Amino acid sequence: MTEIKPQQVLILPEGYTRSQKRDAQSNNIMAAKLVAETVRTTLGPKGMDKMLVDAMGDVVITNDGVTILDEMEIEHPAAKMIVEIAKTQEEEVGDGTTTAVVIAGELLKKAEDLLDQDVHPTVIAKGYRMAAEKAYEILSKIAIKADPNNTKMLTQLAKTSISTKAPGEADALIKRVVEAVQRVVENNTFNPDDIKIQKKVGKSVDDSELVSGIIIDKERVSPAMPKRVENAKIALVAQSLEIEKTETDAKITISSPEQLQSFLDQEEKMLKDMVEKVVSSGANVLLCQKGIDDVAQHFLTKKGIFAVKNISSSDMDKLARATGGTVVKDLDDLNEADLGYAKVVEELKIGNDNMVFIRDCKNPKAVSLLIRGGTEHVIDEAERSVKDALGVLKAAIEEGLIVAGGGAPEIELTRQINKYAEKLSGREQLAVKAFGDALETIPRTLAENAGLDPIDIIVNLKAAHDSGKLWAGVDVFKGKVADMMAQGVVEPLKVKVQAITSASEVAQMILRIDDVIAAGKLKESEKGPQGGGMGGMPPM
Ligand code: ADP
Ligand code: MG
Repeated sequence: MTEIKPQQVLILPEGYTRSQKRDAQSNNIMAAKLVAETVRTTLGPKGMDKMLVDAMGDVVITNDGVTILDEMEIEHPAAKMIVEIAKTQEEEVGDGTTTAVVIAGELLKKAEDLLDQDVHPTVIAKGYRMAAEKAYEILSKIAIKADPNNTKMLTQLAKTSISTKAPGEADALIKRVVEAVQRVVENNTFNPDDIKIQKKVGKSVDDSELVSGIIIDKERVSPAMPKRVENAKIALVAQSLEIEKTETDAKITISSPEQLQSFLDQEEKMLKDMVEKVVSSGANVLLCQKGIDDVAQHFLTKKGIFAVKNISSSDMDKLARATGGTVVKDLDDLNEADLGYAKVVEELKIGNDNMVFIRDCKNPKAVSLLIRGGTEHVIDEAERSVKDALGVLKAAIEEGLIVAGGGAPEIELTRQINKYAEKLSGREQLAVKAFGDALETIPRTLAENAGLDPIDIIVNLKAAHDSGKLWAGVDVFKGKVADMMAQGVVEPLKVKVQAITSASEVAQMILRIDDVIAAGKLKESEKGPQGGGMGGMPPM
């Protein structure tokens, strides 16, 4: 009989990285916690900003969780999962990205303590799942109905969201955002894309304007054209009013001045014909997606037409929807039925630049928000805050349920989840309690970021909630515990639910990983949502 010798089995090529069990878990938890730690200081109205500088020296200054994480060059696969929840939160509700990430970080931190006490990761995951369900149940119970037509309530929602980012009070900006939403809302919903955001440096954020119609960041092609057209009939053209390059590229031999002249005459005639097509459609405004030749400009000017060139295709789409016109690809097809309508088309000087305003369009729901601000950075952050607020208003209007902010719902969850945990037995109880305790991190962080003593605040908060003050939260401005609902610090229920759900899911997912293996190229279908899968795994 031959003896079977034990052999070393190599299932991975030599040199490949792999980390297992506790190592893998610690590594992943560490990475995820680090990501959460980075954005933690930005939470709330007193949160700080981050300055992100890329290799080219370009700078982004922001307080927005998802923007920070998106701009950071994050390599670690578990850390990338945390970035994903910020993105999901952004897509689903538009706000609460930092909250989701901070909670996820805290859930993992608490999980680590449990792992150290030899609680099995699947038990922790199960406890977290139970607690998340309980959290959802509690939140649904404490949430209150919100009337989507109540301007005051919408203003409070917008303020809670915007005031964490926009500089200063931003009251005027908040008002404009609410007005914009009220203009576009229909059947208790709206599409945030219907509100065109246009930015222009100059003045201050509070000089932001809501314009009925569409603004485009362009000027008319010639100052000799009328500056303002009333009862505008607008041709939307996706073809250039130029002689196509390919036509002139052909070799032309010109041997006499007469020939040259006739060639130029012919070009001129072609351009004149193009302009004639616009004129005969009945248009007095031409909005063109492509270029307009100088000669064509001359003819357009002679006909008193207001013309703009090189408009982006996304703006052309918006213009078509707003004015009720059709974008025509070929001038030959242009006729009166394709024209859009606006009461006024005019060029105005905004800051140092001219912009074109297409006002009071056929579709009264077409609105633009012109965001102003002292510098590029200020405007960009104001835009991010407006986008968050639009998400918030959409969630609140659609669902009609709100909760207070300032950490009030989180501390209430801590209280009720811990009570629920007491009724459980076994190790899951530990996990459920850990989940409850983890949510405390939101009021704690709000307090810390406001320079308050977090221990004092948490003690007072707990006492207030124990005595039935459901909406007691952190008044970051006065540095004490106060009723957030009474102060009008409110958020949509959906933002909270989504933040807790996604934080809990990602924590469970990271916990379940006990083996990190450098894979070869992952098949498309197996890759994670970030597209990179774990293919480019860094050394652990
Ligand atoms: P996120 O990305 O999670 O939205 P923010 O930096 O916008 O992070 O902070 C949101 C948190 O700030 C929420 O918990 C919200 O309730 C709280 N918050 C907003 N305004 C106030 C306020 N005036 N007083 C106390 N807390 C506030
Ligand atoms: Mg926010």
